[in-house]
Amino acid sequence: MSGTEYDLVIIGGNAAGLSLAISSLRSGVQSVRVVEPTSAVVFPELVGEQQLDIGYGESPTSVDVAPPSDGSAETGLVVRTSKHEYRTRACVIALRTDAPDWQPPLEVASSDRILIDTLPETAPDEDVLVIGFTDHAVELTSLLATAGAGVVLAAGGMDPTRLSPAGENWLRRLERERRATVLYRSLPDEVAVVDGYPMAFFNDRRTPDLQFDHVVFASGRRTLSPADVGMTEAALRSGRVWFVGETDEENPDVPTAPGWRIGFDVATAFPELEVAPRSAAEVRRRFTSVIEDLRAENYNATITSFEPTHSDLWVLRVKPDRGDISHLPGQYASLGLGYWEARIDDAEDANLDEKWDKLVRRSYSISHCIFDGHGYLAAGPGEELEFYIVLVPPTPDNVPGLTPRLALKRPGDRIYLGPKVAGRYTLGPVVDPDSTVVFLSTGTGEAPHNAMVVELLRKGHRGPIVSAVSVRQWQDLGYLDKHRTIEKHWGNYHYYPMPTREPDVPKRYIQDLIRNDVFATDFGVELDPTRTHVFLCGNPAMIGLPEEVDGETRFPEVTGVVELLVERGFTVDHRNQRGNIHFEEYW
Ligand SMILES: Cc1cc2nc3c(=O)[nH]c(=O)nc-3n(C[C@H](O)[C@H](O)[C@H](O)COP(=O)(O)OP(=O)(O)OC[C@H]3O[C@@H](n4cnc5c(N)ncnc54)[C@H](O)[C@@H]3O)c2cc1C
Repeated sequence: MSGTEYDLVIIGGNAAGLSLAISSLRSGVQSVRVVEPTSAVVFPELVGEQQLDIGYGESPTSVDVAPPSDGSAETGLVVRTSKHEYRTRACVIALRTDAPDWQPPLEVASSDRILIDTLPETAPDEDVLVIGFTDHAVELTSLLATAGAGVVLAAGGMDPTRLSPAGENWLRRLERERRATVLYRSLPDEVAVVDGYPMAFFNDRRTPDLQFDHVVFASGRRTLSPADVGMTEAALRSGRVWFVGETDEENPDVPTAPGWRIGFDVATAFPELEVAPRSAAEVRRRFTSVIEDLRAENYNATITSFEPTHSDLWVLRVKPDRGDISHLPGQYASLGLGYWEARIDDAEDANLDEKWDKLVRRSYSISHCIFDGHGYLAAGPGEELEFYIVLVPPTPDNVPGLTPRLALKRPGDRIYLGPKVAGRYTLGPVVDPDSTVVFLSTGTGEAPHNAMVVELLRKGHRGPIVSAVSVRQWQDLGYLDKHRTIEKHWGNYHYYPMPTREPDVPKRYIQDLIRNDVFATDFGVELDPTRTHVFLCGNPAMIGLPEEVDGETRFPEVTGVVELLVERGFTVDHRNQRGNIHFEEYW
């Protein structure tokens, strides 16, 4: 055993431990040792980048007080591990451990593909959903991404400011490098098993249900107790030890003890360093180059084309710096811009100061350019993704976050593109090439249908294909000419644009098409539930999904398309029940 001297010994190379090590070194603490019981810390790249001093494979065995050394008046500590003995001025226990009784706070099916705190052995190349909002969830996400898994972190309720700085930065880095997708606002309300694989059902309308190879829950881990690290009463009372953890009220399983401290700050532990408190956002805002730094840190893609259909409706293309953009027609990706970006309107975002350096992200269906430069139906996505996006105006109830910022962007500008393309709204259920396929949408809800129509035609679909879209005016049809061209070449394709505010066109809604059997009259296309798939995308009121109330199916007061189709014998494709009505709600 050697008796090495340190200013600070941190037990635990997890997100919190690494954060404390980095911030202490940056604040002027001279010598910091991180003691990690396993053979790796959670974010290994940080060790070299931040010049951290780590003792691997060292488990703490005791923490005791030591008499002052070198004439100092201050009591020191002796930290013993399985390999070394350290004299130190301060010690932080960041290590946390499994809480064996922890259960997921939602309905979860039993399956060996659904795990708690355990990484699936087959993770490389698999799609894994991590559920949780703590540092531990970030740690699991990072380990899975490093192992080569396609990871989605459902972090509904996550407050990034409550993550440790290393956890928060690492999460952003995983997103920026397109190694993980983070759903900050989504938490499933159920994880079921469908066809042998876990399916997460989300309770918010922004996140469609998603299926994975594995689901991993990040448990609420518990802070170690003084006894777990062999800490003596004298050390506990010395005022020189700190435990990282939540308060007792929030986490009743955390053991309490005299001398217990929540968190740690350099200013208290090392007063001679005179470290002033500061807010990261404040510091950043003082510098003009900050916006460029934030863009460089957060954006991972370039807008290569930005074609306004009119001032408030755009077809844009986005090229990621790296990563795979293969996807199925109908799926969606997420785009993001920083709150620091200027808005086109003069609305004010609530709490802008708190989120100024964060990203606002939204989901967007992937559209399709339809024809290539030679006039042929275009093949897959190539290097860019096409989106069809409308500007959302502010209302008394809502200050839109993303589209008023996107409105000021032009080709060459940088943007954030989420790493994972997802969604179940695809042509998967259309297996019969002679079946009838009907696409009904409002506004930009046409986007996924453009991609799906091209896919069907490219595959030689023989049955009738109809795409109808409800808009306000003729000018709101970004793809009109292209659809008219398709109609000329493919006799089985019909495009049915429906402006509702044009003097020369009778005002009709999508629902009227079903009520009045317009497709049968105009194109001879019958809506026969035995041979028809209907795809509905856009405004939830047009779709009109029913709710289950006390075991009873209740349709919305304003009749939507689903109710009219169900009356005709169609069934909704939903959760575990296969059907021929497919839908994607935009809000
Ligand atoms: C899976 C999925 C795919 C989506 N694909 C597209 C797409 O391809 N194109 C697109 O423009 N939007 C799409 N959206 C909506 C998009 O995610 C944003 O909600 C929208 O761009 C508004 O963002 P915001 O931050 O400006 O406003 P927010 O603050 O998010 O405002 C949301 C409100 O804006 C209105 N709104 C949202 N989307 C639209 C819309 N498309 N048309 C009219 N009003 C709308 C609704 O009233 C909604 O309550 C999609 C949503 C989902 C869940």
